[in-house]
Amino acid sequence: MITIKSKEEIKILREGGNILALVLNEVSAAAKPGITAIELDALAEKLIRRAGGEPSFKNYKTGGDKPFPASLCVSVNSEIVHGIPSKDKILKEGDIAGLDLGLRHKGLYTDMAITVPVGAVSEEVRCLVEAAKKSLDAGISAVKDGAHIGDIGFAVQQYAELQGFSVVKKLVGHGVGYGVHEEPEIPNYGKLGTGPRLKEGMVLALEPMINKGGDDIILSGDGWTWETKDGSLSVHFEHTVAVTKSGAEVLTMK
Ligand code: MG
Repeated sequence: MITIKSKEEIKILREGGNILALVLNEVSAAAKPGITAIELDALAEKLIRRAGGEPSFKNYKTGGDKPFPASLCVSVNSEIVHGIPSKDKILKEGDIAGLDLGLRHKGLYTDMAITVPVGAVSEEVRCLVEAAKKSLDAGISAVKDGAHIGDIGFAVQQYAELQGFSVVKKLVGHGVGYGVHEEPEIPNYGKLGTGPRLKEGMVLALEPMINKGGDDIILSGDGWTWETKDGSLSVHFEHTVAVTKSGAEVLTMK
């Protein structure tokens, strides 16, 4: 079942999304050469708690997996999503770092990710990051009451592939709000006019994962971190949006 959030709930999600965007902005500014992923995680958790929220990924479990041990996912270079922060994961000049953070605010959940260049990156890498960001924008533009889930994936895929990149197909976006993950699944590929219809009041986490090389992925030995199979770079951007009559309201906004 795809839940519909009330106007009052969307107001709370908007507040939470604003806190989340401000926190992630501050964390991304700290993602400089030499910093460790565990320091970024500690910063994210401190800022969330200071704002009165709770980090929703910490100890999150999917099925029988080990719980996720941190507040922030830090996925570097060929890591796609769910990278576990550690003290040995040290950012260096030229890397890209995907930072994914979830927040619980007044009982409701928002989810956001950005990928930041660490120090100076090559023009090629800058183009990949930009294309992934714009593929999310394309997906958001496809959202409105009466549109289909497949319209979102179509828009994301079309944009990314036209730039010469591939979209990850085995991992998907999702509904969000009452929980960290809700129905529906939101693939980053698809056909126009297919899948469930969007309705005003649905709240969705759109999150394209765009690879420089092929779309095949592997799960690393830590049981959480997804990586590209060919070792190519991967970029992740995510916003939580509410479906409106005429479009989408991005809730994770500064
Ligand atoms: Mg998500």
